[in-house]
Amino acid sequence: MAATNTSNKPFEAFIDKLRSDYPQFNFRPGRQTRWSPRDKTVIYNSSEISQKLKSGLLHELAHGLLGHSTYNSDFELLKMESEAWTTAAELGRKYGVKISDDYIQTCLDTYRDWLHRRSTCPTCGTHVMQKDATNYQCYNCQTAWEVTGARFLRPYRKSLKNTKTR
Ligand SMILES: [Zn+2]
Ligand SMILES: [Zn+2]
Repeated sequence: MAATNTSNKPFEAFIDKLRSDYPQFNFRPGRQTRWSPRDKTVIYNSSEISQKLKSGLLHELAHGLLGHSTYNSDFELLKMESEAWTTAAELGRKYGVKISDDYIQTCLDTYRDWLHRRSTCPTCGTHVMQKDATNYQCYNCQTAWEVTGARFLRPYRKSLKNTKTR
């Protein structure tokens, strides 16, 4: 589709460079930029703005390099996201992709907001700790609630609108 667009040439070169530097991973286009631990693949949506896509892609690659696959709590996921951005920023220096702290904090806010929503008691509004991977229980009023398993979300703030999870 976009392959014939000459403005995408620098991006193709970028992907080719990552492919040769990280032969242990696959890189393929897809609907959503994300890391797939199961098939060790960085999936990227090449229709996104080039610079943003590059940082997103380096972020997903960072998940792969850090061996991220599963996590047992929302907080652990947030920690992994934070680590992935630290590594992505280092990769960015290597590949000439500027990933600012501001941008990273904005992306992490997506997770913080999400974590905050999931961990807020639906009955009394108290903010509580997670009980296990899919359950929360309020220490204040004893209300228990279930959440869907955590997963790597798109590292962009706008993705929140589309997520069905609490
Ligand atoms: Zn991530
Ligand atoms: Zn409560």
